[in-house]
Amino acid sequence: MTDEAFPSESGSPELDTMMLIIKSFLEHLEYTLGKDKYSATRHDIFNALAYAVRDRMVERWLDTQQAYYNEDPKRIYYVSMEFLMGKTLENSLVNLGLLAEFREAMNSLGYDLDEFIEREQDAGLGNGGLGRLAACFLDSMATMGVPGYGYGIRYEYGIFRQNIIDGSQVEIPDNWLRYRNPWEMDRQEHLHPVKFYGRVVERKDTEGNTLFDWIDTEDVMAMAYDTPIPGYGTNTVNTMRLWTAKSTREFDLSFFNEGNYIRAVEKKMLTENISKVLYPADNVPEGKELRFKQEYFLACATVHDVIYRFHKQHEDLRRLPEKAAIQLNDTHPALCIPEMMRVLIDHHRLDWETAWNITTRTFAYTNHTILPEALEKWPVWFFEHILPRHIQIIYEINDRFLTAVRTRFPGDTGKLERMSLIEEHWERKVRMANLAVVGSHSVNGVAALHTEIIKEHVFKDFFEMYPERFNNKTNGITQRRWLKCANPDQARLIGDTIGNGWTTDLYKLTQLRPLVDDPAFMAQWQQVKRTNKDKLAEYILKHNCIQVNADSLFDCQVKRIHEYKRQLLNVLHVITLYNRIKANPDGDFVPRTIIFSGKAAPAYAIAKLIIRLINAVGDVINNDSQVGDRLKVVFLANYSVSLAEKIFPAADLSEQISTAGTEASGTGNMKFALNGALTIGTLDGANIEIMEEVGRDNIFIFGMNADEVEDLRRRGYNPRDYYSRNPELKKVLDMIAEGYFFPANRDLFRPIVDSLLNQGDHYMLLADYASYVACQEEVSRLYLDREQWARKAILNCAGMGKFSSDRTIAEYAREIWDVEPFEVHPVLEYRQHDVIPD
Ligand SMILES: *Cc1c(COP(=O)(O)O)cnc(C)c1O
Repeated sequence: MTDEAFPSESGSPELDTMMLIIKSFLEHLEYTLGKDKYSATRHDIFNALAYAVRDRMVERWLDTQQAYYNEDPKRIYYVSMEFLMGKTLENSLVNLGLLAEFREAMNSLGYDLDEFIEREQDAGLGNGGLGRLAACFLDSMATMGVPGYGYGIRYEYGIFRQNIIDGSQVEIPDNWLRYRNPWEMDRQEHLHPVKFYGRVVERKDTEGNTLFDWIDTEDVMAMAYDTPIPGYGTNTVNTMRLWTAKSTREFDLSFFNEGNYIRAVEKKMLTENISKVLYPADNVPEGKELRFKQEYFLACATVHDVIYRFHKQHEDLRRLPEKAAIQLNDTHPALCIPEMMRVLIDHHRLDWETAWNITTRTFAYTNHTILPEALEKWPVWFFEHILPRHIQIIYEINDRFLTAVRTRFPGDTGKLERMSLIEEHWERKVRMANLAVVGSHSVNGVAALHTEIIKEHVFKDFFEMYPERFNNKTNGITQRRWLKCANPDQARLIGDTIGNGWTTDLYKLTQLRPLVDDPAFMAQWQQVKRTNKDKLAEYILKHNCIQVNADSLFDCQVKRIHEYKRQLLNVLHVITLYNRIKANPDGDFVPRTIIFSGKAAPAYAIAKLIIRLINAVGDVINNDSQVGDRLKVVFLANYSVSLAEKIFPAADLSEQISTAGTEASGTGNMKFALNGALTIGTLDGANIEIMEEVGRDNIFIFGMNADEVEDLRRRGYNPRDYYSRNPELKKVLDMIAEGYFFPANRDLFRPIVDSLLNQGDHYMLLADYASYVACQEEVSRLYLDREQWARKAILNCAGMGKFSSDRTIAEYAREIWDVEPFEVHPVLEYRQHDVIPD
């Protein structure tokens, strides 16, 4: 920031930086916000501070965008309905390398930077892992110099805030923009019309070609808001572009002309509803018309923007795949594929084969789930009604595709039926996953096991037809946020010991391995964990009024509440521990604090009941004086990126206990291990690869593997066999069923036990229970030996190199996108000359 065009004023560059920060902050307070020290609220101070930080990014941002324009590298478009960014202030300062400078500058003004870091609202524009992955990828792309753009929707309301009232989840709207969002810049000039409804008419041009006009539509404008995404320790600042819905003037006019002013304003409000709220369901599609319109809104605005940017420098759209790669984060943005075809054919008059070639070479699709109920399927009548031209295009894609299938596999009607883009049941539906596979040159899973499963099961027929399309990209997380920012003490200890190379090359953590024999390092490692646990204990006391023993084993399961993730199996273990203490009140038990956190989709009744059960079990156990601090159960409300950043550094044990074959990858598992927690988990998702990296001796694996789950399902699984043969398990289930934990309404939790005993226990909790409990006993035994525990924790952290999202992005760049890192050189001349118009 001490630009070479500005000779040092004070003779000390550090002092110059300080003065510049202070000046910038005070100017924003006064001139941007119109406040002085008497009238400024805490929000004002935060906003002035954020603007001062943003200013430091803007120079590099303009340089980066100008360099992209001049050098014209291939651009990467990461299209996602979700970006779970969390807070921005601290991460920006860390990436810019200005954390210490801003801390000192604020100090000199009498402010504590940490207060404002904490005060910032989360940008919660996502549900869970899928949205957080998109956020980690943006950080990695900027850090590694990949010319990447995130494209999404600027929801006015993000993921709901979760309150726990009388043990139940209560959803509160997340009005995150109320105190303004200082990071974004509105781009009034970047507007694209998005059409809905209407009809398609055919006509012939002078040469006799058939043309299709989509007319009588209701149009909405998509307006861009841009947020800078700074790389760590580089000049690159990329862009996240989020679309907001605006009504069109033309649209309003028809009502105004009828003299119906209120009707016109109402209609305007209705169209702007498209970007109003994030759908809060994770891993299960919401079959609502508004969601469908959101997906098309994102697809349409993004495709038009990609083509607009391409056309600034190129004429011939056949070169698009050389200059743009579009990565679809799940099928949510898969309408980009027919939209691209529509634009190429109807607007640019390309023939079908040319358009299809461009489209398939441009798009790549990432699958995120194999839960059959989570695969998106939109009713054909939605398309006929809302996107009539797109359904024609989808039918044409399907006809040509099925012809190819027929040629390749003659007479196999089963295959045709399974591979068709259209599901022909009483309600005909478009299978979005099939569309995404057919329209892309790459289909990837997000962990090795998951990719094998999609090749062998979900997309078996497609894999037979197009084996070269399928590849794996194991997920990762950014170590800048999940270690450097979230766990500064551990980051500092690592930095002091092996240097700071790990911030951009996480494999450097392997250098920690020999330190398990260094008693001084071990002692410091344990001290860091203890300090982090003390902080979380304080948070728990403040928010839950529960006094927990910071010396106890912090056993954490934090993630969306979902049956497949098996929070309920954890609860069965908790009650087992409780029963053992009650049966032997003077016995020796390794003290545990079981920490849960996570949101349930508002309409997911059984998941909400599981939250109630956790809290009810907690109420009984936490208030039983016989138990004391040997066992505590804590449910932390409102799981979010910010809360996650407090939990991971304090965790001893990471619960990754999904039924094998159901969790595509998981990324929480990686955050825990990086922060020095040991994992108890099934051989599912990325747990398998974590085991490979840290060693079988340094992870607690239990339960059936994916093949055994499949076998047992095929043979016929009877949960009652396990119930009747295991007295401890039987007792736990009977207690829940009989209302032990909720005497006021003894039937409250019956549906939970019913789902296990009478509805087939779909996720096979009872089959894995005994193995889980036995494995937890091993965990407790190891925890008695704090040295051994710390050893394994260090080896876990040391083995996390593979799980940096930098590695993941490097693989996407090389194997899917075919892009090279691009270096942005700072522009050294005094910038203002470029800003002032000629
Ligand atoms: C990492 C993360 C997730 C994903 O967690 P999993 O355990 O992989 O399901 C979800 N929510 C938040 C806030 C996260 O940070």
